[in-house]
Amino acid sequence: MGLSGRGISRRVFVSGLAAVGLVGCQTGGAGPVARPSQAWPRVPNAGWDAWVAGFRGRAVARGISDRTLSAAFRGAGFIPAVIERDRNQFQDRRSLEDYLAIATSDERLSMGRAAMSREGRVLSRVEAQYGVPAEVVAAIWGVESRFGTRRGEVPVISALSTLAYDGRRGRFFEGQLVAALKILQRGDVSPSRMVGSWAGAMGHTQFIPTTFNAYAVDFDGDGRRDIWADDPTDALASAAAYLKASGWRAGQPWAVEARLPEGYSGPMGRRATRSLAAWRAGGVHPVGRAPSGGAAGLIQPQGAGTPAFFVFHNFNILLKYNASEKYALSVGHLADRLSGAGPLAQSFGPDEHGLTLAQRKALQRRLGARGHDAGTADGVIGKATEAAIRSYQRVAGLPVDGQPSLTLLRHLGG
Ligand code: CA
Repeated sequence: MGLSGRGISRRVFVSGLAAVGLVGCQTGGAGPVARPSQAWPRVPNAGWDAWVAGFRGRAVARGISDRTLSAAFRGAGFIPAVIERDRNQFQDRRSLEDYLAIATSDERLSMGRAAMSREGRVLSRVEAQYGVPAEVVAAIWGVESRFGTRRGEVPVISALSTLAYDGRRGRFFEGQLVAALKILQRGDVSPSRMVGSWAGAMGHTQFIPTTFNAYAVDFDGDGRRDIWADDPTDALASAAAYLKASGWRAGQPWAVEARLPEGYSGPMGRRATRSLAAWRAGGVHPVGRAPSGGAAGLIQPQGAGTPAFFVFHNFNILLKYNASEKYALSVGHLADRLSGAGPLAQSFGPDEHGLTLAQRKALQRRLGARGHDAGTADGVIGKATEAAIRSYQRVAGLPVDGQPSLTLLRHLGG
């Protein structure tokens, strides 16, 4: 989900991350995913009607024509499920390790390779024009909408007017609604095709309306900026245009793994920038071949004993797309994997249950083999895995807590 350049963090759109991309694919598909539009019924609401009547005047004052308004609101309505979603926002407690496991699951990597091959020509042209590597654009696409397979199906005018009327973040959503109407007025898309996530993130790259108006491009030259179509051409170019406008530097790295000396207590942080030579002098070394990319900061998001990264200028640009380090590392690592790099060299070690990633995957596989479906064995313990554990614990006569453990893994045997 793209965000405006004025610091409107995608954190206000936490659900965007939940609805598509990174959390939608957790094991067993238990997470929120794009649902059929029947799951978002519009219902009569006199308060919403009155709000829209008042809003029309404000929209006209901001340059929206009566004709646009009538077309946009024909068939629009109040969607209670949107309010529900806004009230129950997904609290993102996933670790960086989980994020990376989901972003670079075998399934997503193979989808990504297929998508890159399918859209190779477009991605090359986009890279040539904007200087953003094909793999980085593809990785954003993969994280935002699973390469276009989860673009959202909520009618945007209904969703945004519902949120603006509701008022919890009314001003923000009214601004997005006006921006959405400007898109319709310009003719980039018809009202019926303007769908997205429940909070108004749209298309292959999940742009919110203000981001769309600031950065979307018509790359195939048909006169419309269309990020909703099955053909992702305009969307991919728009993502690259956004990164370029945010300051992406062509030919430079985003990050590289860093190895810290035992008990390291030196400088740390995205802004603690210095040359790699200076870092080396302090005992911190790049893993593998060092890129030439100017000064780097140093981050270790999950704490001591977990992977650390030298982060370069372009890492901060990925953060402009979404102000979460976990997000930026997921996009960057997926890009690296799509360009042929292997998994991270350093491991995260055991989780709070004492299990490593490999052990969590083994646990999921063994549960599945015994008929307790834990979903994809990606090592991410989500609702599906917990349900499978409870199911097994009941059958095996164990205390039913749904929690993974080494004891449970041993109980499940080899
Ligand atoms: Ca176009």
